[in-house]
Amino acid sequence: MCLSTIKINEIFYSIQGESTHAGRPCIFIRTSGCKLRCSWCDTKYSYSEGDEYTFDALLDHIDQYDCKLVELTGGEPLEQSSSYALLEVLLQRGYEVLLETGGHCSLEKVPSGVKKIVDIKCPASLMHKTVLWDNLRYIDSNDELKFVIQDRADFDWAIEVIEKYSLKGKCCLLFSAVFEVLPRATLAKWICEEAPFVRFQMQFHKVIWDSNLRGV
Ligand code: SF4
Repeated sequence: MCLSTIKINEIFYSIQGESTHAGRPCIFIRTSGCKLRCSWCDTKYSYSEGDEYTFDALLDHIDQYDCKLVELTGGEPLEQSSSYALLEVLLQRGYEVLLETGGHCSLEKVPSGVKKIVDIKCPASLMHKTVLWDNLRYIDSNDELKFVIQDRADFDWAIEVIEKYSLKGKCCLLFSAVFEVLPRATLAKWICEEAPFVRFQMQFHKVIWDSNLRGV
């Protein structure tokens, strides 16, 4: 029995929509709470809504799905100290574990074996000053760095960051266009012509389902 608890916004089973794991069936555990306020945030409902779950209740819930891929997302999972223990428990339970994090919390205590998908907040998010650059030393080839690009200034800034921190070849570098703001075709063109070392990504779930639908 495990009496640890964590505040959860929602749990759902769907298709992984982002990262190199896009397209795979995945169980999502969305934690509650985030100190950031990205200008284009699409999960504002996670800022405060949620219920406290014991780890046992959480594991019972996710065990009902015939799926061994689980993603801890938010909100910001790492703002709750119990997330680190939960990640470890999920690994021990035999899950392949993804962690989606905003990049402002330290990755130092994230258990090895967890595949980290870490945002590097670009200027148009208005959160670029929160990036914890020290986290780059905890990134390896199993991890992914994600830049959400709103405009040309974001794109140029992201390329500068990649050069400054020698990120080419370190891990997968994902560029995603802010939904319904930067046309995907524009970002695709910039990548092909100027940044062939990054990977274009889109949010599959917003194409498959209504973009405002929760729990998908
Ligand atoms: S880090 Fe994520 S949840 Fe937090 S404000 Fe930014 S997009 Fe929203």
